[in-house]
Amino acid sequence: MKSIIVHGGAWDIPDDMLGDHRNGVSSALSAGWDILTNGGSALDAVQAAINKMEDDPTFDAGRGSFVNMAGQIELDASIMDGRTMRAGAVAAVRNILHPITLARAVMDKSEHVLLVSDGAMRFAREQDIPFCGADDLLVGREFERWKEIQTRPAYSGREAFAGSTNPGDTVGCVALDDQGNVASGTSTGGTPNKYPGRVGDSPIIGCGTYAVNSVGGVSTTGWGEAIIKVVLAKSIIDAIDMLKMTPEDAAQHGISILHSRVEGYGGVIVLTKKGKFGIAFNTPRMARAYMSDEISEPVVTV
Ligand code: ASP
Repeated sequence: MKSIIVHGGAWDIPDDMLGDHRNGVSSALSAGWDILTNGGSALDAVQAAINKMEDDPTFDAGRGSFVNMAGQIELDASIMDGRTMRAGAVAAVRNILHPITLARAVMDKSEHVLLVSDGAMRFAREQDIPFCGADDLLVGREFERWKEIQTRPAYSGREAFAGSTNPGDTVGCVALDDQGNVASGTSTGGTPNKYPGRVGDSPIIGCGTYAVNSVGGVSTTGWGEAIIKVVLAKSIIDAIDMLKMTPEDAAQHGISILHSRVEGYGGVIVLTKKGKFGIAFNTPRMARAYMSDEISEPVVTV
């Protein structure tokens, strides 16, 4: 049984950006699905789908990411293998177009789970992960946003997220392959105008990403400072595992906890070991797409 689900962020995606989001999640889904249908692993499918969205300037991941308070782009990503429960993550890395590829290298080729900033970039050089120029990551839309924020006397990401409309185009994917292996991953440029060195939920295992073959996998998006506090991805897995919730109910349960306990906004995608999907969000829109052996064609929704 093969299944895959991707997301491209949860927020009040404006009408004139709907087409780009739809195309972006759709082509990421195809990249992952192609791997699964050719007998590839869930891990490879997750990495390929996320690489596609890191290349796509629509999303806050790789090219197109938000700019931090210091005018830099710092990226976070994580990946988890549900078969072995190995995980790899990087945070606050600069000049890397595909942070999920670096997170995978941390998982596969180091004895660590999370490397940050200069150490992560040193590891990238050792592993021959390509570097790019800052201009390869920066797009005009985000430069304009950053300049506009600098003109405000005070800008609070918290307040912006509290309105549930703060842009959030973090990307993620969960896949299940024919061998019954689940993998999950998430990649992001974080939040607009974040403090240099700020790390959100996306590279934190259990918060932005989680996968375990006996249950399933989750990737989350939304206000990272809130998601971390409720350990969102793992809470959803536990709801399926221990409370015997369906993936739909567990996804909804996760978003309810996020909102009721810490006033958080965001969205989650869930895939169980049986290939069943769950999606929930408390923002006006969420870009997502899924496909499995049980449906005849991909479902793409923004
Ligand atoms: N969760 C990401 C972060 O806080 C942002 C997002 O998902 O939009 O870094």
